[in-house]
Amino acid sequence: MYGLFTKEINEMKQIRHLSTNIEGLLRNFKNKKLTGLFDDENGNPMSDKAIRKELAELQAKGHKLIGSDKCKGFDPFGGGCPGHPIEDEQ
Ligand SMILES: [Zn+2]
Repeated sequence: MYGLFTKEINEMKQIRHLSTNIEGLLRNFKNKKLTGLFDDENGNPMSDKAIRKELAELQAKGHKLIGSDKCKGFDPFGGGCPGHPIEDEQ
C-alpha cells in the first residue's frame, strides 16, 4: 500500500520522502473516511474499509510508518525515508 505523499529537499541536497504515521492517521480519521488516500499495488484508489484492513495488518507486523512507492530503503518501523541523492530521481 502506498500513500500519495509529497517530498521535500533538505539542506544536504537530498530528497526526503514524507511518511505518514499510522497511529496518527487513524486518530485524525477516526470519524472520517480514508477513501482515496491510498492506492493499491495497481495504482487504484482504495476504499476506506480496505485501507483500514491493511493498516491493521501493517500495525500487526509492527509497522509505524507508511512511505511512498518511490522511496527505496524506507524503514516502516520508525526510521522512515533514509534520504536520497537528488540524481537518483532523474
Ligand atoms: Zn525516500
